[in-house]
Amino acid sequence: MVKAIRVYRTGGPEVLKYEEAELAGPARGEIRIKHEAIGVNYIDTYFRSGLYPAPMPYTLGNEAAGVVTAVGKGVTGFKVGDRAAYVAGLRSYAEEANVPAEVAVKLPKGISSETAAAMMLKGMTAEYLLRRTYKVREGDTVLVHAAAGGVGLILCQWAKALGATVIGTAGSPEKAALAKKNGARHTILYRDEDFVKRVAEITKGKKCQVVYDGVGKATFPGSLDCLAPLGMFVNFGNASGPVDAFSLLMLSQRGSLFATRPTLNTFMAQPGGTASMARQLFRVVENGSVKIRVTQRFPLRDAAAAHRALEGRETTGSIVLVP
Ligand code: NDP
Repeated sequence: MVKAIRVYRTGGPEVLKYEEAELAGPARGEIRIKHEAIGVNYIDTYFRSGLYPAPMPYTLGNEAAGVVTAVGKGVTGFKVGDRAAYVAGLRSYAEEANVPAEVAVKLPKGISSETAAAMMLKGMTAEYLLRRTYKVREGDTVLVHAAAGGVGLILCQWAKALGATVIGTAGSPEKAALAKKNGARHTILYRDEDFVKRVAEITKGKKCQVVYDGVGKATFPGSLDCLAPLGMFVNFGNASGPVDAFSLLMLSQRGSLFATRPTLNTFMAQPGGTASMARQLFRVVENGSVKIRVTQRFPLRDAAAAHRALEGRETTGSIVLVP
């Protein structure tokens, strides 16, 4: 038995139950990891609320890092005692979990379990957004919404390292200042200012090659209006709610725009996908071009408080649960 956050019905943070849960030995191809830190991601709130349906009951959470304590049959890449991190479907808000070895990665010496739990899901997301979805090039102007958030801070730093000029939106002056410290050349307080107008001013009418939008409903269709002809709208999240169906003519009217709604799962499922995204992420973190900020830690039992903070727009950077 392990202590875990279990979900029996969808709803607000109050549906998260901290209790004992069964955990069998690792099955063939799996490893068991004793968690030292657990990543909190906005997607966890979508499962909890029911926006993303899943069969219940389940243990919430998609990411954690720690030490391998058992190895299932057929696993060759890991041994007991290795430090590892993973991104995998519902299971991580727990003291320990079994995960398919193919989705786990060994941690380099310089990367702590806490840093790994704070960055694997968010950082691999930043990697595929910047390097595989729209390929950011030197000289591009990139708009990042919620620039001071977990994914946002990584996107700003990494896009800058790729040679882009980053414009970041943020919900408060403190968040805007943090985004500026982390790679955003310009910031916009999108709760007070018209971000479309400000992007036009900042770029002197040239607009952006790509918009990375994890906010969704509240920034649509404004995000489309921030794009130069042939630009790409990348809607990768729904922090304010999902973008509703829209007419494709909106893309032609603004200059042959591209629009995509990517997910990390698709990129992890490509041959060698997880390993290569993780490698690129470790490279930029180890060479210092991307710094991972853990801004709040909550005991595992207080996962509901972590969700309240995240959905209340009170957090910046990454937050983790400590078992
Ligand atoms: P964040 O730390 O970015 O938190 C969400 C932020 O969104 C808030 O801090 C807030 O910043 C902003 N926001 C804007 N409107 C709202 C609203 N109505 N309610 C709450 N927050 C709002 O979270 P993550 O870094 O975990 O995730 C960022 C986004 O990326 C999410 O949409 C998530 O689903 C998505 N994601 C998608 C993946 C994919 O592969 N498709 C993978 C990983 C994440 P501010 O106050 O500055 O506006």
